[in-house]
Amino acid sequence: MEYDVIVVGAGLAGLVTTSELIKGGKKVLLLDQESEEFLGGQAWWSFGGLFLVDSPEQRRLGIKDSLELARQDWMGSAGFDREEDEDYWAKQWAEAYLEFAAGEKREWLHSLGVRFFPVVGWAERGGYLAEGHGNSVPRFHIVWGTGPGIVQPFEKAVRDGMEKGLVDYHPRHQVDELLTANGAVIGVQGSILEPSGVKRGESSSRTVVGEFTYNAPAVVVCSGGIGANFDVVRENWPNALETHRKG
Ligand SMILES: Cc1cc2nc3c(=O)[nH]c(=O)nc-3n(C[C@H](O)[C@H](O)[C@H](O)COP(=O)(O)OP(=O)(O)OC[C@H]3O[C@@H](n4cnc5c(N)ncnc54)[C@H](O)[C@@H]3O)c2cc1C
Repeated sequence: MEYDVIVVGAGLAGLVTTSELIKGGKKVLLLDQESEEFLGGQAWWSFGGLFLVDSPEQRRLGIKDSLELARQDWMGSAGFDREEDEDYWAKQWAEAYLEFAAGEKREWLHSLGVRFFPVVGWAERGGYLAEGHGNSVPRFHIVWGTGPGIVQPFEKAVRDGMEKGLVDYHPRHQVDELLTANGAVIGVQGSILEPSGVKRGESSSRTVVGEFTYNAPAVVVCSGGIGANFDVVRENWPNALETHRKG
């Protein structure tokens, strides 16, 4: 199969990315080092508390929230104070995510069947003040069904994509390297791990039984905060910044 995109990691980020890509008719290769049992990654274990800004649930509880207030809270927490370039993408991401959370996020999730518990929690409360660290108002919207409830619609979309032949999902495929040419990522290389029968969350075998190489015009790394070791990303970061500077 020729792939439009390779997605590395089948946690929530990988499932959301894959489901959005197949909605656009793209052919996707989804790789994960763990077995199918682990689909959904950390999100399956999570409480499923989602960040929304100025939602109907907040308004019903009398919580006054706005994009401006959320921006103040986030920028206060992040404290982007490194050199202009170093924080550039982090700031862009923060701004885009704030707009998403105050805009289409809830309606989009609702359209996928996600529903929210009517009491909004107040996680990451920080120092209570809007200009300081943390959320100055409750914004933690708990999904009905908690973690598995937020994984479910995206897992279903990906499985539907597999049935339609738009997604190839290869578990036990550990990506070790991003392949590059002329400063651009052109594919991935890695190790096929032996089949594992362990339960979700347990340590699985790292015994390598084969190798793989795949190419695609785009690679999206969704490898989470645990288990990733992409030295090549760090090595190529200066190139990415240089490209950005040149517009
Ligand atoms: C107990 C718990 C409760 C939580 N509660 C909340 C909450 O209420 N609200 C909230 O917003 N967040 C919560 N979180 C955090 C949230 O769940 C995670 O931030 C989120 O699920 C991360 O998703 P991800 O897809 O980015 O990464 P992961 O879920 O970590 O998925 C990454 C995937 O990439 C794979 N992978 C890694 N390296 C490689 C490689 N080299 N090759 C191939 N595959 C690889 C891994 O096997 C994994 O399947 C919670 C987390 C935990 C553990």
